Amino acid sequence: MSETTFMGVERDKIDWKPAIDYTKCDYCMECVKFCSHKVFEVRETEDIKLIVRNPNNCVVFCRACSKICGPDALSFPDKNATSQRIREIRKEESNG
Ligand code: SF4
Ligand code: SF4
Repeated sequence: MSETTFMGVERDKIDWKPAIDYTKCDYCMECVKFCSHKVFEVRETEDIKLIVRNPNNCVVFCRACSKICGPDALSFPDKNATSQRIREIRKEESNG
């Protein structure tokens, strides 16, 4: 169970995480070096050498790693849609 909240909403209810486009990723691992939140996991012995292991560790609305990714392989959900969803959850919870 996660105790972490963002704007009063449990973090694990918020869909904000990087998605890796494996057709673009060259496994340079710059994103792993860059991010200190242990979102990614390197898997040396697997064919797919990088996965998003801890999506809820990703800082909501951060997109910093996508800016240092040379091949532009990282993408994120739409910020406005995510903000809207957070507002909806807050409303549901305050009514509930
Ligand atoms: S920085 Fe981009 S290309 Fe490099 S490992 Fe991360 S996702 Fe892949
Ligand atoms: S968006 Fe920010 S917190 Fe999330 S994985 Fe990238 S650098 Fe880390």
